[in-house]
Amino acid sequence: MTQVPSQVRTRFAPSPTGFIHLGNIRSALYPWAFARANKGVFILRIEDTDVERSSQEAVDVIIEGMKWLGLDHDEGPYYQMQRMDRYKEVLQQMLDKGLVYPCYMSTAELDALRERQMANKEKPRYDGTWRPEAGKTLPPVPEGAKPVLRFKNPQGGSVVWEDKVKGRIEISNDELDDLVIARPDGTPTYNFCVVVDDMDMGITHVIRGDDHVNNTPRQINILRALGQEPPVYAHLPTVLNEQGEKMSKRHGAKAVTQYRDEGYLADAIVNYLARLGWSHGDDEIFSRAQLVEWFNLDHLGKSAGQFDEAKLRWVAQQHMKTADDALLASLVAEQWGKSGITVPTELQGGSDKLKAMCALFKDRCATTVELADWLGMYVAPVSPSVDELAAQVTDATRPALAALAQRLASVAWDKAAINQAIKDTIGEFGLKMPQVAIPVRLLVCGRAQTPSVDAVLALFDRDVVLQRLQKID
Ligand code: GLU
Repeated sequence: MTQVPSQVRTRFAPSPTGFIHLGNIRSALYPWAFARANKGVFILRIEDTDVERSSQEAVDVIIEGMKWLGLDHDEGPYYQMQRMDRYKEVLQQMLDKGLVYPCYMSTAELDALRERQMANKEKPRYDGTWRPEAGKTLPPVPEGAKPVLRFKNPQGGSVVWEDKVKGRIEISNDELDDLVIARPDGTPTYNFCVVVDDMDMGITHVIRGDDHVNNTPRQINILRALGQEPPVYAHLPTVLNEQGEKMSKRHGAKAVTQYRDEGYLADAIVNYLARLGWSHGDDEIFSRAQLVEWFNLDHLGKSAGQFDEAKLRWVAQQHMKTADDALLASLVAEQWGKSGITVPTELQGGSDKLKAMCALFKDRCATTVELADWLGMYVAPVSPSVDELAAQVTDATRPALAALAQRLASVAWDKAAINQAIKDTIGEFGLKMPQVAIPVRLLVCGRAQTPSVDAVLALFDRDVVLQRLQKID
């Protein structure tokens, strides 16, 4: 088992460049779950230094998606663009300590160096021309040139970490050249900002996508130069789409908020995403509370998770079955509102009747949009298929349907009495249950299959049922 420090501090550090899909938000779910599982702190940090591609709109979408999924943060959002002074302060400290140095190599010189190295079949890397060493004479500073600042990467030895997903990773320092950590205009570069933030925010566990694994040895070296012990790292494998490509907008991924708009329950998405790269024995269906109770970094999957719509629907169905009826009632009312259906007064405000309707129909739905669609029969006219009606409302069944309507006009309006009225009717006419139940469903509900017909009818107003049953001719 992982030894967890006294206070876990994790972060989600998205770059707000436009679009957040399920694969991206999983990188928020895991650090959130790990912080909650350990009574720690979860921080939201917006990495907006790519000014060209970042937008406040994208930040809002990230925050909206996280809010919908219940991934609440304890600190932040911190914005890297608002922390520039701090990065510059740390740069200055490093400069003062000789941990970084100015490099005046021009782009043309760098290109030439690169070409030479490629021609010699060497890995292209900065050659340390401007790195100060004891007894070394540096080239004369070119007039008017503004330097970049490079980090003095340790020479010799290696960087090693025990990745919670990938196991032991060891990178020789000889593989790492001296990274540019500030541009000629003094602005810090990406890896440096991440290091200062992880240090200042006291991050104990960095849980992020494995597209950052190559940055990690560099970040560890800079952290150590700043006198910090590196955090624990867990680099999550990519999420693939159904075609096996890396999930992306270009490859048809949907925005997280689209799942909300399609009526998926947040807890179902959380459950599905949790399983897309982590496991707890054979458990497939679990609540948010169970996830928080069980989540750890010891059972993260090593291989890429693959999105599977059919499985998502199955998980969503399981969550619908056990969902709280009051929650469903409010979501159904919201869906009706969106499709322009006026919610009758008696079904407003989380009424018991709407809750009972949800309870009766929820186990045949994956989403609240589907549930709202089913329950539409209670709040809007129905239009059964003419062909189906013709097949079901026949000379053999019509008299029975008329007799049933008469009985229903006077029985007590509850499931048991309705059931008795149907039984008495089929007894009287010598019919089988479906010969009456199916046309009744078609006429009243607009569809041939529903839950138990007596239970379904009991939730209608009697007048509506009688009026719809009149249409037998
Ligand atoms: N901003 C980076 C991204 O969106 C994440 C950086 C990190 O987690 O260290 O991919």
